[in-house]
Amino acid sequence: MDISAYRLLFSIFVFVTGAVVGSFLNVCIYRLPLDLSINRPRRSFCPACKYPIPWQQNLPLVSWMLLRGRCANCGARISLRYFAVELLTAFLFLAIWQSFPAPVATAYWIFVSLVIVATFVDLEHFIIPDQVTIGGTVAGMVASLAVPGLMDTNSRLAAVVRSVLAAALGYLVLLIVLEAGKLAFGKKRIKLDGPTPFAWKRQGDDAEFVVGAEQSLWSDYFAREKDRLSLECDDAKIDDRIHNKITLEFYYDRVSVEGQTLMLDDIDEISGTAVEVVIPREAMGRGDLKFLAAIGAFLGWRAVLFAVFAGSLLGSLVGLFTLVVGKRVWSAKLPFGPYLAFGAVTWMFYGQAFVRWYLGLLSP
Ligand SMILES: [Zn+2]
Repeated sequence: MDISAYRLLFSIFVFVTGAVVGSFLNVCIYRLPLDLSINRPRRSFCPACKYPIPWQQNLPLVSWMLLRGRCANCGARISLRYFAVELLTAFLFLAIWQSFPAPVATAYWIFVSLVIVATFVDLEHFIIPDQVTIGGTVAGMVASLAVPGLMDTNSRLAAVVRSVLAAALGYLVLLIVLEAGKLAFGKKRIKLDGPTPFAWKRQGDDAEFVVGAEQSLWSDYFAREKDRLSLECDDAKIDDRIHNKITLEFYYDRVSVEGQTLMLDDIDEISGTAVEVVIPREAMGRGDLKFLAAIGAFLGWRAVLFAVFAGSLLGSLVGLFTLVVGKRVWSAKLPFGPYLAFGAVTWMFYGQAFVRWYLGLLSP
């Protein structure tokens, strides 16, 4: 067999392997956030009717197309995500195989598998499971020991040290961002020293929220639709209605008062005296910190900085786009994980070229 036919055959083999791995990643994406076991039941089942899917209906890519995205048993729609994840994994496996020497490619296959699971779980559930982030950080360190080239060195010891330091950097960079973001309130539950005046005032598309001397932007508190801020009040005035001894439960777009839900769009001002505030959990989850650590462990310290930079840039562009299209700012926030994933994968393929280009700028 001549060399090009051999190469073509091997590329097809890698692509199919990627699709099969993608099929397994779909199982992880579905089961990990629900705390279901990955290998029991061994057989995949339809999420709607629980019918165990026979192997001939569970072929990656092919089955989804043949069944036109429906369960063969009950006809329930099977999310396009299954097909998309298989196709994406197949293409990334192939691209990695064609871009890197075999040992590095093997490590990168593991890495993109983790990144794909993190991205799709985060998009749906706004969390990144520890199995992916902490597990990924450890996997990255082990991979660096096995393939020191990942950390641009020949020494196994140096590779592991760099991998550990890059993971620490990843965690710390986001920790600093996270802490800096908590200007107004550092804690989740804040007992105020005695009754404290508060005010919520509409300001264009957002609102200003003042408690005592602390002043902040309303949208800073809400990252997710389910985030809730509750305010225990001695008294509260909503536009013109006065309430005594109540707890206001705020969501990003509404407030519930004694069982009644009011849309914030219809309210101009809320003020009164508060005794306790409970703010939503952090806008950026700890999962993002651990995810960036895993990125560092696999790709090194420069990838950490690049992923944060590229991720924030893309995040701002998407934010700007949704603003232009007319969605409200405070409902348009997306989880940060997928942006970090985008930055990391971009670095994996183009990082070296980017560094060369950058150094060229410095010394023409
Ligand atoms: Zn079904």
